[in-house]
Amino acid sequence: MYRSHSCGELRAENTGTNVTLSGWVSKLRDKGFVVWVDLRDRYGITQLVFDEERSAADLLEKARSLGRETVIQVKGEVIERASKNPNIPTGEIEVLVKELNVLNQALLPPFTIEDETDGGEELRMQYRYLDIRRNPVKNNLIFRHKVTIAVRNYLSEQGFIEVETPYLIKSTPEGARDFLVPSRMNEGQFYALPQSPQTFKQLLMVGGMDKYFQIVKCFRDEDLRADRQPEFTQIDCEMAFVEQEDILSTFEGLTKHLLKTIRGVDIEKFPRMTYDEAMKRYGNDKPDIRFGMEFGELNSITQHKEFNVFNTAELVVGIAVPGGNSYTRKEIDKLIDWVKRPQIGAKGMVYCRCNEDGSFKSSVDKFYNQEDLAKWAAVTNAKPGDLILVLSGETNKTRTQLSALRMHLAQELGLRKPDEFAPLWVVDFPLLELDEETGTYHAMHHPFTSPKPGQLDLLDSRPGEVKANAYDLVLNGNEIGGGSIRIHDKETQAVMFKHLGFSPEEAKAQFGFLMDAFQYGAPPHGGIAFGLDRLVAILGGQETIRDFIAFPKNNSGRDVMIDAPATIDNEQLKELHLKLDL
Ligand code: ASP
Repeated sequence: MYRSHSCGELRAENTGTNVTLSGWVSKLRDKGFVVWVDLRDRYGITQLVFDEERSAADLLEKARSLGRETVIQVKGEVIERASKNPNIPTGEIEVLVKELNVLNQALLPPFTIEDETDGGEELRMQYRYLDIRRNPVKNNLIFRHKVTIAVRNYLSEQGFIEVETPYLIKSTPEGARDFLVPSRMNEGQFYALPQSPQTFKQLLMVGGMDKYFQIVKCFRDEDLRADRQPEFTQIDCEMAFVEQEDILSTFEGLTKHLLKTIRGVDIEKFPRMTYDEAMKRYGNDKPDIRFGMEFGELNSITQHKEFNVFNTAELVVGIAVPGGNSYTRKEIDKLIDWVKRPQIGAKGMVYCRCNEDGSFKSSVDKFYNQEDLAKWAAVTNAKPGDLILVLSGETNKTRTQLSALRMHLAQELGLRKPDEFAPLWVVDFPLLELDEETGTYHAMHHPFTSPKPGQLDLLDSRPGEVKANAYDLVLNGNEIGGGSIRIHDKETQAVMFKHLGFSPEEAKAQFGFLMDAFQYGAPPHGGIAFGLDRLVAILGGQETIRDFIAFPKNNSGRDVMIDAPATIDNEQLKELHLKLDL
């Protein structure tokens, strides 16, 4: 038996018991006549003691020579500590060791295995197995487990069945590039790894599995933006015989359950907002509504003066920064530089100070008098002591810029509190999205999303205006879930493919199996998928998903621990009928 107890288990009431413990040497303090060793395992730390009086001399010597992270087993007696440590659960006792077995030696770890380590990110990733020994990483993985178990239990109680769908499939378009796997047995042919199990879960609905879920890996070959992973996990769900309202209430139920059981937070009802409203009020389809700073559109009150920048702009829009009048000129200039960076791309920014005495001082005083500026304050909801910041230009771009500024300021002002939770449903997304580069439309959610009833006819004349039965669940400014009511008849699906630029032949080649299935009695259905990594991170009060993934990839999509991706030898290439032409 390697152990009778874990290293986090023993308490004062165990005093006098003989125990066997196994674990890693975390710390060693050698006072000459006495040696203390902190023994660590997943459950905690127990202090071991060896001393001149009570331990055999060779045992003391052996203890003294233990290196950090050596794997050992000890047998001994639980005794009360002379000086207790109230900071750890086992702090009242120590184990007087009578027998010490070294189970395995360890090299000196390249960074300290402590809560605050001296190891940088890259080094920690390279030795992730050592990083996982550290509390912050270990606790995040345990936290993730708690969330996934809660999800499974809740959905199972609601009658959902977890079904596994294949990983070696044909492309499922979610708007990213596919990861491809060459087929050895079928020369010149490739599988695609699923961007999501979308088509399979729809086929399960045709199969009559009317409540499906799966905690599943998805793969998207995108240029990696910060904090995206090429493989990530979804809580993927689908239901048959449902309308949008059924989906929203079912998954509001799941999210409420998680907030309650994981964080002890009660939220009565999640607010809802249409996509159009979210864009107008926050410039963003995933607004963080934990704080105000809502957009105020100033076109009608700014555009009949001499200020040409505003007169020629499609949109003039501002926000009020709470307490922002305390910013120095230098600080405001820094903000102006911030929005002018290429990543944001604003040409400039107008500001207006709201003084405590009710007067205003703006950077465009030449064009706007106190009465005009009072109107700006009214529209942006600015109070005395605030600072109004105004951007102008093409509508979509300007909204995106101001939204980025709003989030940046909120972060700086500490308004994005990690332990405050503000969920929001965003509904009525557009069905199609214009690709500015190619001038063509593509599905905003995916091609299987149904248009709102009665809007199919608009597809020809005003495609950009057609709304979809599509919804996102937003939590604290992050999209944590998204889904839609699906098309479930062949004809509508064919119309949709046509509008997305597929010829009937292409549609048949790529999605014939789904269109065929629709002819065998497909029930009305819809669903949603949550991004588990992000959900866990936010519930954990953080936003970096990497910290909640056991073996994440870095920003270039590499696993630096196993050193993947890697080249393969010619033999393997040949077997796969591939030739590298670099
Ligand atoms: N398959 C979709 C996605 O990955 C989710 C859904 O529509 O259910 O975003």
